[in-house]
Amino acid sequence: EELYGFNRWGTGHFGVDDEGFAEVRPVPDGPTIRIMDVVDEAAGMGIKAPMVIRFQDLLRHRVQRLNQAFRRAIREENYKGDYRGVFPIKVNQLREVVEEIMSAGKDYNHGLEAGSKPELMIALAMHDSNQRLIICNGYKDNDYIRLALLGRKLGKRIIIVIEQLGEVDDIIRISQELDVKPLIGFRIKLQTRGEGKWSSSSGDNAKFGLNTAEILFAIEKLKAAKLSKSLKLVHFHIGSQVPNILTIKNAVVEATRFYCQLAKMGFPMGYLDIGGGLGVDYDGSRTNFESSMNYTLEEYARDVVSNVMDICEASNVRVPDLISESGRAIVAPHSMLVVEVFERINKKETLRQQHLPKQKHDIVYALEAQLKNKSRLGRLERFHDALQKKEEALSLFNLGYLDIENRAAAESLFWQICEKIDREDNEAGYQPEELRDLKKLLADQYVCNFSVFQSLLDHWALKQLFPVVPLHRLKEKPTVNAILVDITCDSDGKISSFIDLQDTKDYLTLHSLNGKPYYLGIFLTGAYQDIMGDLHNLFGRVSEAHVFLEPDEPNGFYIEEAINGSRIAEVIEGVQYQWEELCRRMKAQIDTATRKDLVKPREGVRLLEFYETQLQTKTYLNIERAKRKKR
Ligand code: PLP
Repeated sequence: EELYGFNRWGTGHFGVDDEGFAEVRPVPDGPTIRIMDVVDEAAGMGIKAPMVIRFQDLLRHRVQRLNQAFRRAIREENYKGDYRGVFPIKVNQLREVVEEIMSAGKDYNHGLEAGSKPELMIALAMHDSNQRLIICNGYKDNDYIRLALLGRKLGKRIIIVIEQLGEVDDIIRISQELDVKPLIGFRIKLQTRGEGKWSSSSGDNAKFGLNTAEILFAIEKLKAAKLSKSLKLVHFHIGSQVPNILTIKNAVVEATRFYCQLAKMGFPMGYLDIGGGLGVDYDGSRTNFESSMNYTLEEYARDVVSNVMDICEASNVRVPDLISESGRAIVAPHSMLVVEVFERINKKETLRQQHLPKQKHDIVYALEAQLKNKSRLGRLERFHDALQKKEEALSLFNLGYLDIENRAAAESLFWQICEKIDREDNEAGYQPEELRDLKKLLADQYVCNFSVFQSLLDHWALKQLFPVVPLHRLKEKPTVNAILVDITCDSDGKISSFIDLQDTKDYLTLHSLNGKPYYLGIFLTGAYQDIMGDLHNLFGRVSEAHVFLEPDEPNGFYIEEAINGSRIAEVIEGVQYQWEELCRRMKAQIDTATRKDLVKPREGVRLLEFYETQLQTKTYLNIERAKRKKR
């Protein structure tokens, strides 16, 4: 439990039960669910790993917690405005996720944020109460603006946030055409820069937002069009996953100044939208390190409320209703990915008798001596000596002076020496980098049935960290240092940096494989990951199980929905092949082979049948079958 840091990143939702199984507690003080029970139950419904599990009650809880945090802060500060959260659909567009958030947010009038036309179309249809807001961000064509104004016609509180000066003229023209008064916000390009991986969302070079001069131009245009009454909102977004609360405070102060200036110019205003950025503590370190955050959700709410209030009071301006577009903080914890480890790649296997060279080369004797003889030399020096011999062995092999058995023996001895040097590691304090890297060098590769590009895109693209943990055997001491590799044909398809209290770790200590299925959970993947996937190698969507707490069920839960992952026929159609056409082509080739007597007619029919049924199977490995074949 300690090794994997459940207590730190799990924030009370994730832990280990008495029998060493990972468990989830979807709501604080509520019952727990053993995650392997979900995996087993899903298997009974035909759903296998890789699989996303969504804990819908946890999702509800996050919506409530965010809203309650702001309500409490508002009450405690005696703030005279409301909190109006909006969920940015881009963070997880899945219908069941958006529906759950809408349902959990009903009492809080939690609304939606759209960043594109397709997202706006979802928002318009899913929006069910004019008390809830819709915020329209992103690049907008005329149809986007028309759709937003359609919502306005229906009486929705839908605010178009102007991100580029050019949008002002379009909005003015189209609202005149449609004879409707728009509600307008300005996205402001703050000087306060975010920190962390998404910090380029603000500052002079940001892609979005109006600079100070552009705000003044936009104001003139609105006035000229007699739309001054439409300006309601100031918006900013300094990037997602802001690790440092000081950055947030500074941004809120700067934006509130803009808000007050506009209010003093006589615009009606009413809303301050602080965008996204509320973080998730992926490594549980509570630091301003990129994958962490040095504040809590409650502190965030208090700081926003009190800073806005201070500045409004000082400027003698009525406080605005506060909007946050928090996405990550709501959805990240609710879903996880389950992957099965099915193979171990071990470069340091010691050779068996039958593989040993019949005649040992001198270089092998030299390495044997390095391994066996006691040496007074330091660890680093012995490592360099071994490295030199290994490189010599490779050169000899390339020049034709070393046979394959001797090369195998040299490599095997090299790894044994490295392991020995590593085992002697009992020095506290500073270690030279090469020795620190030894563990990484020695780590095995655990091959997992999933695609990093589909299910963990930000780890590949931005080196974002996620907690990775075995779902069972947690009472057993793990003994194997490993990195995880996926099944794509891409050497980038791997997880080789892991959460750690001090910075990151280059390997994970896992249990040795024992021939039985071994499952890992990759946690906190509900924001951006499980929806943003890429079709690399045509492994499409993974299967999903949507879990609800249910005390009357034997394991305390039920799977409301089990969604099958992509089938081969589906993904290949996505790249313009028609499976019927592929079958026709295969049939023609099999017919030709039959005519040439390369295959018997009966066998030809079976081969075609096999090809056709494979098209309807899932894209990921069928591990059961792979094992049976091997035996
Ligand atoms: N609002 C805007 C304009 C964004 O660009 C984003 C994401 O980057 C968000 C909200 C959501 O941010 P987060 O997931 O950090 O809450």
